[in-house]
Amino acid sequence: MILLALLQGAVVTPLHEVNRLTVPPPAVIAIAGATIIDGRGGAPITNGVVIVRAGRIVAVGPRANVTIPRGAEMVDGAGLSVVPGLIDAHFHLDGDQGLPSLYLSHGITSVRDPGAWIENYDGVRASGQTIPRLFLAGPHLDQAPPAYPEDSYLVRDAAETRAGVDRLIDQGASVIKVYFRLPPSLIAEAVSAAHRRGVPVTAHLETVDALTAMAAGVDGIEHITSFGTALLPPLAAERYRQSVLADNNARRDGRYQVWSGVDLVSARARMVVDAIVRRRVFVSPTLAVFEVQAGDRGATPVQVEGFRRMVAFTGQVRRAGARVVVGSHSSVPHAERGWAYQREMELLVEAGLSPMEAIVAGTMENARFFRVSARLGSVEAGKMADLVLVEGRPDQDITAMRRIRRVMLNGAWVGN
Ligand SMILES: [Zn+2]
Repeated sequence: MILLALLQGAVVTPLHEVNRLTVPPPAVIAIAGATIIDGRGGAPITNGVVIVRAGRIVAVGPRANVTIPRGAEMVDGAGLSVVPGLIDAHFHLDGDQGLPSLYLSHGITSVRDPGAWIENYDGVRASGQTIPRLFLAGPHLDQAPPAYPEDSYLVRDAAETRAGVDRLIDQGASVIKVYFRLPPSLIAEAVSAAHRRGVPVTAHLETVDALTAMAAGVDGIEHITSFGTALLPPLAAERYRQSVLADNNARRDGRYQVWSGVDLVSARARMVVDAIVRRRVFVSPTLAVFEVQAGDRGATPVQVEGFRRMVAFTGQVRRAGARVVVGSHSSVPHAERGWAYQREMELLVEAGLSPMEAIVAGTMENARFFRVSARLGSVEAGKMADLVLVEGRPDQDITAMRRIRRVMLNGAWVGN
């Protein structure tokens, strides 16, 4: 028994999408003349060449250094940039069966849904549409009364938490999401049970302080708002916590109240930023979902100021060296259907990331967050060929990420 336990503890299965893609086409494709942006933050290669064979990138470099195989399908990349397929850390299907394929056509080749039953995706998987790689969590772990009963798996103690984590991973979860009523002791149990299986844990926080959740070992934090109570003086933080414990919906207006009052140059703010950096926690700000700008219909000064500070804090954690990633949340106030991801990238640039950093946040950094960086996340020889061709230079102007020209998933052009 001990040996078995040791073996189980030691075996770390690679994390996979639930819709493993079929055998890629054998053809050789050469994209020549484009600017190559590698997704790791390396210097762009102008007039570059990318060679794809049987679903994998086999060569990348300046045109002078790469031999194009005879018979390759040639793609003229003049005026275009090649970026890695975009990875979304926070996608919600919400019954919109056409959204995954629309996202794919906008360059998003991998999505992770941090809180929905895996079977919610059965319909779209069976539909015959070409869709992104799906990394799923199953329902999030929460306690009664849950904010989203249909997306929740309720656990009452350590044993239920550990069993719940194992059950979700057995069903195909490649991440575990803990939700905001789960107390710190059970967050720690979920982390221990998930890490034993090689699976990361990410958290949406309201009632648990982010410092406490990070100390419990979470790998990621969803939503910049999750840091709100950690930034407040204790009395104000407890007042917010009590309001949400009494009524889940108190968070909706309450979060802007919290953020309009946070002091980002305080010793407390420095401590939170230091902890995020020191613990190497992935931060998925999902700014776009909270965006309120002056002039929006019904916008209050508190909301506008609260959002402004959310953006400022995102820039602050990045400048300090935090691992910031892109999560779109699918449906956001300032983007048309299908463009929430691009809006999030633009807001990250407004927060102070360079366009290149925003691209890295959406590609290689997310691949690390998903624990799939050995095969996804960059334009490098040996990686799976998930690629996006955009017009212009997104490393100079992030809005170029809206000018998608072609998308390649697993070595095949989407839409061909
Ligand atoms: Zn969400």
